Amino acid sequence: MREFDYRRADDVAGAVALLGADPDARYLGGGTNLVDLMKTGVERPARLVDVRSLPLDRIEPADDGGLRIGATVTNSDLAAHPEVRRRYPALTQAVLAGASGQLRNMATVGGNLLQRTRCGYFTDLTRPCNKREPGSGCSAVTGEHHNHAVLGASDHCVAVHPSDMGVALTAFDAVVSYETADGPGEVPLADFYLPVRDTPHRETALPPGALITGVTLPPAPVAARSRYRKVRERASYAFAIGSVAAALDVSGGVVRDARLAFGAVASRPWRARAAERVLTGAPATAENFAAAADAELAAARPLPHNGYKVTLMRNLVVAVLSELAEEAAR
Ligand SMILES: Cc1cc2nc3c(=O)[nH]c(=O)nc-3n(C[C@H](O)[C@H](O)[C@H](O)COP(=O)(O)OP(=O)(O)OC[C@H]3O[C@@H](n4cnc5c(N)ncnc54)[C@H](O)[C@@H]3O)c2cc1C
Ligand code: SF4
Repeated sequence: MREFDYRRADDVAGAVALLGADPDARYLGGGTNLVDLMKTGVERPARLVDVRSLPLDRIEPADDGGLRIGATVTNSDLAAHPEVRRRYPALTQAVLAGASGQLRNMATVGGNLLQRTRCGYFTDLTRPCNKREPGSGCSAVTGEHHNHAVLGASDHCVAVHPSDMGVALTAFDAVVSYETADGPGEVPLADFYLPVRDTPHRETALPPGALITGVTLPPAPVAARSRYRKVRERASYAFAIGSVAAALDVSGGVVRDARLAFGAVASRPWRARAAERVLTGAPATAENFAAAADAELAAARPLPHNGYKVTLMRNLVVAVLSELAEEAAR
């Protein structure tokens, strides 16, 4: 591992100043992703700025009635928070579906959103990878890609974003706040991850040197009846091969409001807006749930070995929405 400088920041302005515009410096959250990448040589920062002591570890009511979640809140504390469990249960379920108890105690909200892809070629320094080394090529397109993207990918990269938390946050219109040397800013999670195109190494809309300070969830009454369902290749401690965050408001047998986001199918958590349009105002039936899934998945462009994901996601959407509709009818 390359020798590196380590600094601990006590306040937000100090953290931003310590990192500066140095492309060789990184913020350190729980370190559960960054340190692994440093061990394999994918990341070789000259300086780490530890943000875990920053006063960003609170979950508080937002002015508009939503929730403001600090960037250094741990995954464990986020999942356990009573207001998150009551008002956004799919978020609690998503976080608990990820990693292990020990990792969730270390991992932070900011770090979770910025964790890198689990594409095996990304961490294999002997193989071409456009995300790791722009212009070198994508080994996955013609190689091992059974767990890769079916939506929104390009020939330059077909990797998926691994975050479970991000899928639920996307369904509930979360907004990311950040701080830079030029002042604060914010960006909706829907615009946070950049389209892949021919620049897969440029992953987010964050300005250089930006410190994520928190995530705000707007009030969403529909989210009180929500669910996260994750499919993985073994029962626990594995990344998703497909997942769904869904919320449904049904009254008189008709869908009044619906939220739907997919995980492990694209380079970012995928908000299923086409499906939401089909659902809203329609009878809450399995046929309409399937039609909604089909509307979203019409844009899928699977590779030779990951076409199963289209069927998997269709079945997942119908199952989760049917469960939510049955609950609403009780
Ligand atoms: C074995 C294993 C299994 C896992 N399984 C899952 C899973 O099933 N689902 C899932 O979603 N995740 C899973 N994870 C990933 C885990 O959730 C992430 O590693 C974790 O969320 C990253 O958070 P962190 O605070 O440790 O980030 P770090 O590793 O500290 O940082 C990650 C990145 O974020 C940057 N960063 C951190 N904080 C900030 C900030 N405030 N502002 C700007 N940049 C920042 C760092 O510079 C780095 O680039 C797994 C991890 C492991 C090791
Ligand atoms: S899919 Fe993306 S991360 Fe994986 S090898 Fe191709 S360019 Fe690299």
